[in-house]
Amino acid sequence: MFPAAFEYVRAHSAEEALSLLAQHGSDARILAGGQSLIPAMRYRLARPTVLVDIGPLKELKYLRDDGPGGFLRVGAMTADMTLERDKHVRARYSLLTDTSDVVADPVVRCVGTVVGSLCHNDPSGDWGAAALAARAVMVVRGKDGEREIPIDEWLVDSFQTALQEGEMAVEVRFPTPDARTQGAYQKIERKVGDYATAAAAVQLTVDEAGRVTHAGVALTAAGPRPVRVDAAERILVGQTLSENLIRAASDEARAISEPFADTRGGVDYKKDMARVLVARGLRKAAGRLNLDLGASA
Ligand SMILES: Cc1cc2nc3c(=O)[nH]c(=O)nc-3n(C[C@H](O)[C@H](O)[C@H](O)COP(=O)(O)OP(=O)(O)OC[C@H]3O[C@@H](n4cnc5c(N)ncnc54)[C@H](O)[C@@H]3O)c2cc1C
Repeated sequence: MFPAAFEYVRAHSAEEALSLLAQHGSDARILAGGQSLIPAMRYRLARPTVLVDIGPLKELKYLRDDGPGGFLRVGAMTADMTLERDKHVRARYSLLTDTSDVVADPVVRCVGTVVGSLCHNDPSGDWGAAALAARAVMVVRGKDGEREIPIDEWLVDSFQTALQEGEMAVEVRFPTPDARTQGAYQKIERKVGDYATAAAAVQLTVDEAGRVTHAGVALTAAGPRPVRVDAAERILVGQTLSENLIRAASDEARAISEPFADTRGGVDYKKDMARVLVARGLRKAAGRLNLDLGASA
């Protein structure tokens, strides 16, 4: 199907993009990689009358790590593939590279952006849960300057974010993990390149004794929006990881999961998979932290 008629404008600066958004109001949409917006327009699920293409903006194409205590800053035009291929990110950001490895297929990842995915906020999109577990922060720019929005507040509902009319997202920030922080993203899909049947993101920080000081646990395709499993996080923090603890935390993931039945599977199956994938993610993160689950069980 062809999209409804629209006007296409290439922005040459972030300021120009903002002025076009101000000029056209709710009729205008930012076009980043186009991997979700163009299909939505072709199915007439989205009918913007003006597309503001930020593709040419090199100023929004970057990956910068502040180092300890700071953030990995991912610009709005940075494609998934850029994270996937970056050696520094691969060495330090296990949760993010696990995620970028399984988003769609390599062709989509070359063009689709991390920020675009978080703006689209598809409950089956992989970046939402990863960003929740990593405690990401979105940075948006509007006529009155920039504001920072914690990811929990950003992901409002299915295909809905805290972005306001006239604003564009310019960056997502992921806190820089220290040496005692590791994560994992676990996904099951019908075939390579498909959206998740179920998926889970976890990130753990441990102290010298191996006790969990910070935990992030979140689910993909487990409700109308990506879901943070705070009950599981509370179970983990302050404890030494063990198989019993993993079982208790992953049971919370099953309990909070509210998936829809569809061609990818039924509700009970998806809830069971949420539990299984959180457990697998916690074991994988524990392995990356060299924790001995057997000894502490
Ligand atoms: C075949 C196929 C398979 C896929 N499989 C998966 C999958 O398994 N997992 C997964 O997570 N995703 C999947 N995707 C989606 C893909 O990852 C998209 O790239 C991503 O969801 C959107 O990124 P984009 O840069 O293409 O955004 P676009 O499609 O350009 O935009 C998406 C939405 O976000 C808005 N937007 C984008 N950037 C900004 C910005 N800077 N400021 C404000 N609003 C903005 C747009 O206006 C639009 O509403 C798949 C896509 C395809 C085509």
